[in-house]
Amino acid sequence: MSVIKEVIDKVKKMDPDQPEFHQAVEEVLETLEPTVKRHPEFVKAKIYERIVEPERMIIFRVPWEDDKGNVRVNRGFRVQFNNAIGPFKGGLRFHPSVNLGIIKFLGFEQIFKNSLTTLPMGGGKGGSDFDPKGKSDREVMRFCQSFMLELFRYVGAETDVPAGDIGVGAREIGYLFGYDKKIRNEHTGVFTGKRLEYGGSLVRPEATGYGCVYFAAEMLATRRLDFKNKIVAVSGSGNVAQYTVEKVNQLGGKVITLCDSSATVVDEKGIDAKKLDFVLELKNIRRGRIKEYADKYKTLCVDGKNVWEALREQGIKVDIALPCATENEIDGKSAAALVKNGCICVAEGANMPSTPEAAKIFQDHKILYGPGKAANAGGVATSGLEMSQNSMKLSWTREEVDSRLLIIMKSIHKACVETAEEYGRKGDYVTGANIAGFTKVARAMLAYGLV
Ligand code: NDP
Repeated sequence: MSVIKEVIDKVKKMDPDQPEFHQAVEEVLETLEPTVKRHPEFVKAKIYERIVEPERMIIFRVPWEDDKGNVRVNRGFRVQFNNAIGPFKGGLRFHPSVNLGIIKFLGFEQIFKNSLTTLPMGGGKGGSDFDPKGKSDREVMRFCQSFMLELFRYVGAETDVPAGDIGVGAREIGYLFGYDKKIRNEHTGVFTGKRLEYGGSLVRPEATGYGCVYFAAEMLATRRLDFKNKIVAVSGSGNVAQYTVEKVNQLGGKVITLCDSSATVVDEKGIDAKKLDFVLELKNIRRGRIKEYADKYKTLCVDGKNVWEALREQGIKVDIALPCATENEIDGKSAAALVKNGCICVAEGANMPSTPEAAKIFQDHKILYGPGKAANAGGVATSGLEMSQNSMKLSWTREEVDSRLLIIMKSIHKACVETAEEYGRKGDYVTGANIAGFTKVARAMLAYGLV
């Protein structure tokens, strides 16, 4: 049996209740098969076995009090997956679906993504099954403070640097960082995604969305195409989706969809800058539902369906698909409908938004398919730039950060293309991203001996 198959089987046997983690491990390891022959030293040192096992997993109780004085208890997680090339780095997710398997899948993906950015960052991820939706600001603050009172022991500017993810935006980072600062009596760069006034970086809020569009533009350029006049579907309506729409608009494309977990809106006239302002206010300040967009602009609203299901059901065509909501949002059926309707490019703003069936359909039909660990790496890359600015105790201008982000996305694209070619898989961004991200980490692990 091949080493790869053995490792995948072992992972499934050891933690049978972690399907998302199995999916991520399988997706990465299967593409690493050619490295087994080329690097017998990795096999001998059991790098494949070691890379799927986190350095450390921390699970903790988070007690807090709601506005009515009731005691509530949630579970907190931090998975410190791999720090071979730099401090653990990866966001926190607050969502009722969070469990250890989800955090492990996200932390595992993060290792390779961070390696691709060219910056010295290891991989980690954390979060809680706490749901910020429907909670008051003071409840969110009390939860964040209790969460941080435990997490602060394990994180630090040189150890492990968390950031945001689903359900953790600027408000939550403010409460978390503020409490960490109080406990430590230190103002250090223990978080990224901070607001500008207390050590954040310009362009960090925009970075994942902008980066995803920069990556898609690079992919399109390989076929002498661009965003001008293209019809684009974006899913989600949170941080990543919002700035994906902004950048597509700047590059001349027309975004016609957004969604949240309750509904999808389809606006065939396009979500222009003014309508996007409405979405930002709706989602970031009023914390309302996307359905209000359809009410205000009198557009189609498909209840209970995500963007890809809605497009399939309504038979709507798009040229480019940018999934920016959550994992496994595009299934095989929706992927087949996208391809049938002429979609030429998919770039993943979200982490693992395509099921294995969907990813296979995109690859079999040779459409431009940029996997999340490459296409959405702009967020963590700019977090890396925030860490650099914090260490140097200075701030770069918007232009400086944005131009560095663009350079990084171009270099990730180049690494994917060149590595795929080197391994005889021209145009396969999945293989390119996985092997390029993996080999750097594997070489570092090898250099350390058995640690
Ligand atoms: P947000 O919480 O800001 O937004 C998430 C959006 O997705 C919300 O609109 C949410 O709707 C929607 N959503 C969640 N679950 C579903 C579902 N099952 N069906 C339909 N819509 C859903 O998170 P982000 O924008 O930060 O993150 C989005 C994705 O991007 C995630 O996969 C994340 O891991 C990934 N990512 C984020 C980075 C970042 O810098 N923020 C960096 C790299 C990747 P609702 O409000 O109803 O829950």
